[in-house]
Amino acid sequence: MLRYTWGLVVLFLLPSCQQSLEDIKETRLILGTVVTFTVAGVPEEVALDAITQAAAVMQGVENTFTTHGDIPNTVKIFNQAKAGEPVHLLGAVDNLLQQSISYWKQTQGAFDPTLGDLNKRWGFSGDKAPAVPLTKIEVQQSLARSGVAAIHRISPQTWVKDKVGIKLDFGAIAKGLAIDKGVEKMQQLGIQHAIINAGGDMRILGNHNSQPWRIAIRHPRREDALGWLDISADTSIVTSGDYERFFMYQGKRYHHIINPKTGFPAEQSMSVTVQAPTAMQADVLSTGLFILGFEKGLPLVESMPDVEAIWVDSHKLVHMSSGIKSKFHLLKDKKDE
Ligand code: ADP
Ligand code: MG
Repeated sequence: MLRYTWGLVVLFLLPSCQQSLEDIKETRLILGTVVTFTVAGVPEEVALDAITQAAAVMQGVENTFTTHGDIPNTVKIFNQAKAGEPVHLLGAVDNLLQQSISYWKQTQGAFDPTLGDLNKRWGFSGDKAPAVPLTKIEVQQSLARSGVAAIHRISPQTWVKDKVGIKLDFGAIAKGLAIDKGVEKMQQLGIQHAIINAGGDMRILGNHNSQPWRIAIRHPRREDALGWLDISADTSIVTSGDYERFFMYQGKRYHHIINPKTGFPAEQSMSVTVQAPTAMQADVLSTGLFILGFEKGLPLVESMPDVEAIWVDSHKLVHMSSGIKSKFHLLKDKKDE
């Protein structure tokens, strides 16, 4: 289901070098966003079959983790369970929840998989875009219904909440996982050169007719790009931005990335782009680093091998981790030229 029309194209491909075999490009609606599959270097029927199978795998990931719609899943069962009631989660959910808790620790609580109640109340993922912020009291009520400390794995795959109303939300990590699973499927089918781009969250494979893939990164406030990267390896690039789902109220921007410490939209960043080996890692870290901001986030990025990040902070200043500075082609604001 496409919940919003704004902010779909976060990253896009710049016109690139001369091509031999035509790229095969297909779009599908999965995970509430437009997913673009680009496959290079194989005949059309091979590419189309791989795209169809990868899309089916990604739809399966959405069905397993979504908290929206009518399809039953164990995340929804857990969310509706009472305090003290043990819930048997699907293996994949059990697994992602454990990994999420480890990311919660790594990001000093910035990424929090138990914010489901608060996220629902803010309403950014609902069918109707919100127009008015929550009150402080509403936020406090919802924050009281969150917290990794209030959920427990009592045996393999079995979890229990010890506070009423705790809800899981994998919105900041499941899209990345879905992209990884889609790419895995394409690789099994022999695809070596491809991009899966889910609303700006990408995993990139191989190269583009022996040339690097040129990936542009959207500027959070401009029509043109912030800059670009030339990529010719298996890697992921994911952006979290305050322009994707937001509303303006009394001159202030309210968006969908919530700081668990305050319960209100995070204020340190306008966008954060993360490059990491997997889309899941890049997805969860882009959200976490957005909330942490450059100063708190940089030491975390520098401590992680193969992870790089680019922040546009709340003053529109660009900051980069050490490994990406020489690779990122920053475009100047036309007004500054
Ligand atoms: P997008 O979905 O636009 O790619 P993100 O990956 O940054 O953006 O994920 C944002 C989504 O994650 C929100 O819509 C919400 O469901 C959830 N979310 C918001 N704040 C947090 C947070 N602090 N920790 C974990 N999940 C969050
Ligand atoms: Mg994310």
